[in-house]
Parts: sequence; structure tokens; C-alpha cells
Amino acid sequence: MTPKEVIAFCREKGVKSVDLRFMDFPGVWQHFTIPVTALTEDVFEDGLGFDGSSIRGWQRINESDMLVLPQPDTAALDPFAEIPTLMMICNIQDPVTREDYSRDPRNVARKAVNYLKSLGIADTCYVGPEVEFFIFDDIRYDQTSHCGYYFVDSVEGEWNRGRDEKPNLGYKLRHKEGYFPVPPADQMFNIRNEMMQLMIECGVPVEAQHHEVATAGQSEIDLRFDELVTMADRVMVYKYIVKNVARRHNKVAVFMPKPIFGDNGSGMHTHLSLWKKGQPLFAGSGYAGLSDIALYAIGGLLKHAPALCAFTNPTTNSYKRLVPGYEAPVNLAYSQRNRSAAIRIPMYSANPKAKRIEFRCPDPSCNPYLAFAAMLMAMIDGIQNKIHPGDPLDKDIYDLPPEELQNIPKTPGSLEEALNALRNDHEFLLRGDVFTPDVIDTWIWYKMTNEVDAIRLRPHPYEFCLYADI
Ligand code: GLU
Ligand code: MG
Ligand code: MG
Repeated sequence: MTPKEVIAFCREKGVKSVDLRFMDFPGVWQHFTIPVTALTEDVFEDGLGFDGSSIRGWQRINESDMLVLPQPDTAALDPFAEIPTLMMICNIQDPVTREDYSRDPRNVARKAVNYLKSLGIADTCYVGPEVEFFIFDDIRYDQTSHCGYYFVDSVEGEWNRGRDEKPNLGYKLRHKEGYFPVPPADQMFNIRNEMMQLMIECGVPVEAQHHEVATAGQSEIDLRFDELVTMADRVMVYKYIVKNVARRHNKVAVFMPKPIFGDNGSGMHTHLSLWKKGQPLFAGSGYAGLSDIALYAIGGLLKHAPALCAFTNPTTNSYKRLVPGYEAPVNLAYSQRNRSAAIRIPMYSANPKAKRIEFRCPDPSCNPYLAFAAMLMAMIDGIQNKIHPGDPLDKDIYDLPPEELQNIPKTPGSLEEALNALRNDHEFLLRGDVFTPDVIDTWIWYKMTNEVDAIRLRPHPYEFCLYADI
């Protein structure tokens, strides 16, 4: 839609208020709302002012006044507002210089795509994320339990604190049998359907929704791939809908990567491909039907994976997912079939247009704008410098002798490790002024201070279990 069309759309739908949304630095949507009468065509050009000083990660700016510029192509009706409300995603600008703000994550993603185009390698980066999440009845806090916070779900009972069995009201699932028999076993079917339907109504095309492998309640709704910035916008609409539908049903949707000890975590496997003038660049005659460009893109992703994880797996909890045994990647290698490899080459279709690579590291705690931009920059580096990814990891890793297994590089063991990797390896992100040194420094500082140190300095609930009486 053009600005004129957005205004006409508001009139036609009886819209009363317009909700302007933008992404903070760590990855949570922020918003403020204006009456529809304040939405003129000028607003799309001149923007609207707001105080950016208390937005997380933006504090250090001297000039705290910022502008939001609503993007008309992101307009959609808010399905949860009680009066007709239009939501629009915004870019952020400095009101004095009228430059796009360098710490606006959406700006970083836009610059990454523009950089790709400027090099002439490709004109489009398609992205298809598989966002997973859990639906619980509640998150409770219990001072007397070992773990403090714990999750409750109506299907299997209580987690992280010993399982308080509930009465069996019928069709109660045995542990991990949620994947994926039809209802009544699948008790989240209707909720996921409602989420899927609302996504479609908000202009977010969906391919499928299903129960996931972890205990009852783990869910996945697969979005149809699209261009990088659009897809990052859609991940935010996705989370907004998932959380609000869960809330409507008195449940809570949880995107943290590893909410339950001893079970699968939630990933955000990301399918990636590059295209030029409508032609796919990743199909070829190499390994698994890949082109040289695709192999070099894999080489770039694998080379920079430890640093990339600081953006794709940016929470301390992320590293509780990246462990062996739960289909999450641990080996920085690629393969057609091995799910412990960081990169898988899906072989579902022989159509060159379907040829893509699946980067399995990311999880849904990431800021999708920064994560997608970082992945693209790593692929660009691989392609420009012809970084060959070495041999694929097609052997069954359980048959590999320990010496050989040890030689395969591994995903970082902690957020601190990933941030240190980023500190030492970020030149590839700075090219084309995509990630500025300030963005890298602020990210590392923010994450170290607010998350790594915050966890490191606190006694862990499980330490009470281990050590309280020694
Ligand atoms: N949930 C798993 C992960 O943590 C993956 C399951 C799947 O292959 O979809 O990546
Ligand atoms: Mg999945
Ligand atoms: Mg997958």
C-alpha cells in the first residue's frame, strides 16, 4: 500500500487508532498509538517524534528525541485491539540529521540487503524461519522449589520442579507423545489453528502448523519464505499473534530456547537462499545439488558461526539448547541429513527454485533483524572470499571415532563464549557500514552486563539443591 492507500484503507475499515511499532535493540517490539485523525500523508515523510532515551540499548545517544517513520507496506489491522486499529512497523531516524538510526535493528537489516545488491552477487536473500515455542498454562514462582520459576501445563503437569501429576481427565498423553497424533491427543490444535488464521489475515502467509517433538505443547507454525526485511517484520507479527492468542486462552507462549531440562528446546532453523533477476543461485551440480555460490555461503556461515551465535543465539538460555541429544546443532559442519550439523541441506524437492540451506543454530530469542543481517553478511564473506566449507558430515556421528569427532568444531558453550567470538571476529559484519563498530560494542556490552553477568553473579536455584547443606 502507498500512504494514500493506507489512509483510504483506514477510512474503509473504520479504523480509529494507529499503532506505530518498532524494534528495540535486544529484540522486543515497542509501540505508541495515535488517533487515526493524526495520520496524514506528511507523517509518512516527516515522521513522528518520541523519546528514545529509555529504549533498551539506545540510552547512550546524546540526543534522545527520535523520529518514527511508518512503513505503509507493513500496514495491517491489529486483530487484538478492542477498537479498530491499524498497526504499522516503523523505521527510526535522527530528527536533526534525518539519517536512519544506526542502532535501529531494522536499519541494520535493510543495509545488509542493500549491501548484497551493491555487490552484484544477488538481488534477493530469501529467508524462511521455523519458529518454535511452547504453550504452557502458567509460569509460576515458588520460593521453596529448587528452580524458583517453573512451568505448568495442563497436558503433562508441572516442569522443572518435579512433576505434580494432575488427575487424568482422559486422553492424557504419555511423556513426549505429543508429536503428532490427531486430537484429542493434540490439545493445542485449535489454538494453533487460531494463530495460523490470524497470521494469514495479517498478511503473513503460513505453510503449515504442527505440534513439535518436545513434551505436549511445543508448537511450530511455518511461514512461507520471503525477502529478508519482510521476513524479520513477519517474525515480530508472528510472536505478537502467538503471545496474544495464548493470552486469550489463559495460557502463556514461551519463546525461550530451553525452558525444560531434559527435553528438546525451541529453535528457529532458518532456510536461506540467494536469487538474482528471478533466478535461484543455490542450485547446481555440487554436493546435494548445490552450486559453488551455495557452498561458499555455507563456508562463510561455518567460519563465522561462533561470532554469529552472539546474534542468532543471544541469551544465556540459548546455550542450554545447543547440546547433544535434542536435534539441536552442536557440530559446526554441514550435511544432507545429519541434524546435529549446524547446516542441513533439505532434499525435499529436486526443483532448483527450492534449493536452499538450513542454518539450524538460530533460536527464537534472537532479534530477527540482527540475526538475519548477520547470517547474510557471513554468506557474503564466504562468497566473496571463496571460503570452501570442507567435507560434509554425512557419517553417523555415533559411529565416528572420538578423535574424528573431536576435530569437528563445536557451537559455543555459552553466551560469553559467543560474545568473545564476536569481539574477535566482526570485520565481516562492518562491511558496507551494515553493523557499525558502535552496534557491535553496544551489543557485547549490553549482553555481558545485563545477561552474562546478571546470571554469573546470582546463586543458581539448582545450586541450592547441590550445595545448600554442605
Ligand atoms: N526443536 C529442535 C531444535 O532445537 C529441532 C526439531 C526440528 O528438527 O524441528 O532445533
Ligand atoms: Mg521444528
Ligand atoms: Mg528444520
